[in-house]
Amino acid sequence: APDTADAVLGGLDPEQREVATALRGPVCVLAGAGTGKTRAITHRIAYGVRAGILHPSSVLAVTFTNRAAGEMRGRLRQLGAAGVQARTFHSAALRQLQYFWPKAVGGAMPRLVDRKIQLVADAAAACRIRLDRGELRDVTAEIEWAKVTQTVPADYAVAAAGAGREAPRGAAEIAQLYSAYEDLKRGRGVIDFEDVLLLTVGILQDRRDVAEQVRAQYQHFVVDEYQDVSPLQQRLLELWLGDRDDLCVVGDASQTIYSFTGATPDHLLDFRTRHPGATVVKLVRDYRSTPQVVHLANGLLAQARGRAADHRLELISQRPPGPQPDYTEYPDEPAEAEGAAQRIRGLIDSGVPAAEIAVLFRTNAQSETYEQALADAGVPYQLRGAERFFDRPEVRKAHVALRGAARFGGNDSLLDDAVDLPSQVRAVLSGEGWTPHPPAGSGAVRERWESLAALVSLAQDFTAARAGATLSDLVAELDERAGAQHAPTVQGVTLASLHSAKGLEWDVVFLAGVTEGMMPIAYAKTDEQIEEERRLLYVGVTRARERLHLSWALARSPGSRPGRRPSRFLDGLRPGSGARAGRPAAGGAPAVERGFARAAGGGPVGAGAVPRRRQRTPARCRVCGRTLTDAGELKLMRCEECPSDMDEGVYGRLRE
Ligand code: ATP
Ligand code: MG
Repeated sequence: APDTADAVLGGLDPEQREVATALRGPVCVLAGAGTGKTRAITHRIAYGVRAGILHPSSVLAVTFTNRAAGEMRGRLRQLGAAGVQARTFHSAALRQLQYFWPKAVGGAMPRLVDRKIQLVADAAAACRIRLDRGELRDVTAEIEWAKVTQTVPADYAVAAAGAGREAPRGAAEIAQLYSAYEDLKRGRGVIDFEDVLLLTVGILQDRRDVAEQVRAQYQHFVVDEYQDVSPLQQRLLELWLGDRDDLCVVGDASQTIYSFTGATPDHLLDFRTRHPGATVVKLVRDYRSTPQVVHLANGLLAQARGRAADHRLELISQRPPGPQPDYTEYPDEPAEAEGAAQRIRGLIDSGVPAAEIAVLFRTNAQSETYEQALADAGVPYQLRGAERFFDRPEVRKAHVALRGAARFGGNDSLLDDAVDLPSQVRAVLSGEGWTPHPPAGSGAVRERWESLAALVSLAQDFTAARAGATLSDLVAELDERAGAQHAPTVQGVTLASLHSAKGLEWDVVFLAGVTEGMMPIAYAKTDEQIEEERRLLYVGVTRARERLHLSWALARSPGSRPGRRPSRFLDGLRPGSGARAGRPAAGGAPAVERGFARAAGGGPVGAGAVPRRRQRTPARCRVCGRTLTDAGELKLMRCEECPSDMDEGVYGRLRE
């Protein structure tokens, strides 16, 4: 069916088409944000499959998050290429490990550790080393780093010094803790997230028969976001490939944001050296953002330094002009969040879909203030990292209830009165205590409500797409989605950390907390760390299609000392900041909109700000959204119960 295959190429520009049609041998795409890298590789797979060149089951596409993998599968299905494996490194490895364990090792695969941080604490106790909570977290991150860089305890000190790691303890102590941790883990018969990759690598290295079986299954490899591949992931990729080279990688060195975890853009930048015959394609047309947004992104890149920056590519917007990015200063963080919430309310009222709006911040701790402000403004929202949607207790319960209702028609006559599928779903959910109107306030209650509301809108979309669909059809769809961890889109504003926003896009993006101390984050000290922070801001800016709002607060809370200044990365880029780096914006910045006047009811900074009641919302795992009650976990971005989301920035640490 060459005609239909060619149709897949229709939506690509000549360079993207080159990527899509280079189906053999090594291919490397180096290109900036929004230039259609992900689109090009998705169409490439679809083209290959539909032209009969690639067998769907022989392709393994690796993406960075489960969400990205889910999106790619959905896109492939739309393009007529269902059945292709699109996974994260971690989930692909976990699957292979589970499959080969009985044969390669024997017995059942060990359980994944529930609470890694507790294991580290136990290791510390065994070594008689006292660690406070912050140190515990940092030691855990060091162990993770050592493992993804394939550094054994004995080599830790040398490797850490070479990589310029700033360990919370002496290297000898970390090495001792690392070793004790491994012993303890082995003794308890559990494995951790890094072990999943390490063990897969080990089996593929040692067992020729297993390696051959895996290689017979997968012949074509595609990797998105290759600039953030870790040495361990790279090793796995090499083992999958063996001596073949049908590998297509795409990435943007300027978006390297995980190097603190051991990832490195070197694999991307050295691809041509490793594969001399590679097809190398550069894309420069930016299809995502307006010239105004692209101008700011290019400005940020122009100030970047280091190896990644040497490979920067200036972006050229393909979109019609839009509004200038705007910059707003607030007296404190609650006022900043309230200001954003008011604007978002206005946007939604003027017809912008909530799902097309995102608020992005540097640390997950910042989300709480925004959750509160959005809830107060009556704006629906979702936290990014809803990958484990189907594992949430309320969703599981609802799933079971819906299945029961589909089978038996419900326990009572509830369903008889409901005439269409969404009403039937509402009826079943109301049996679970769900109400059509959101509960007041924010936090866990609100989040549970949003999850179930997502099921109702899923039912609505489902009926719209399939007239006459029954509750059983919907349950079948839910089963399939649960298996694929394909969460329904919540029709709300997205709240996300910059790290988890990578690869995604929205019409309207609010970048919150663009201050010194946040961007760059206070603990970024070395030049490399500062550059990584700048790239993080670049990632944030390039998520916006049309409107970009940047804001900052002069103080953390009402009444506290207003000592903050806007991020140095904006110096010379935002109006009024001139080239005089280091000067606080509070005195001048005439072109910068002073949001506090409105937000604080027109009063002067500080004095006029109405102190807000600060309600503490419990911290949540950023991967599954589960509320974290154990204080030991509070500062981790994900709980220990989300093994298959390792690639989703597990190593991320929150520090204020
Ligand atoms: P990032 O670096 O942020 O991951 P990317 O390079 O992967 O970005 P995509 O997400 O693939 O970029 O594409 C950005 C947007 O531009 C998407 O909305 C995509 O559909 C659109 N796009 C890409 N290429 C084209 C094209 N040739 N014609 C029209 N739209 C395009
Ligand atoms: Mg992409």
